[in-house]
Amino acid sequence: MKVGYCSVARSPELLLSDKSYKLKLLTGLFLPMAGEMIMNNDQLQKFKEQLEQMKEDIISDVEQTLNDMTSQNGNIPDPNDRATVESERSFELRLRSRERKLLDKIDEAIARIENSEYGICDECGEKIRLQRLQARPVAKFCINCKTKQEQQEKIHGS
Ligand SMILES: [Zn+2]
Repeated sequence: MKVGYCSVARSPELLLSDKSYKLKLLTGLFLPMAGEMIMNNDQLQKFKEQLEQMKEDIISDVEQTLNDMTSQNGNIPDPNDRATVESERSFELRLRSRERKLLDKIDEAIARIENSEYGICDECGEKIRLQRLQARPVAKFCINCKTKQEQQEKIHGS
């Protein structure tokens, strides 16, 4: 089956008056197409739950790490041990900044669900494929735009 294709759209009935088209739209005859185009509420709700779960996981993980770091703060007798702790800490801080960015993305994605903008590419306005969203619920761009952006970033060396 070809996704996004609607047999109704091709039928000669479309050549009828605009009024008839609107009537069909209202009576739900065009729903098969709408089903392909718009995510239903159940799907949106699932994505929202998934995003909120991701958020909780990150936060509890960060809290755990902070607790570990605090408990290590006390007695460090050997200077070599201290150096190890320092480098571990800077590693943790880098990790935290990556997670903070991810948290921001999750918040953005949840906001997009609430504004009914979720699953729409921020660049071209096309629908982001469901498989892509399932693999990466925070995705903001369709795969085409994302690929283009990554190529641009490579060119500019950033
Ligand atoms: Zn796009």
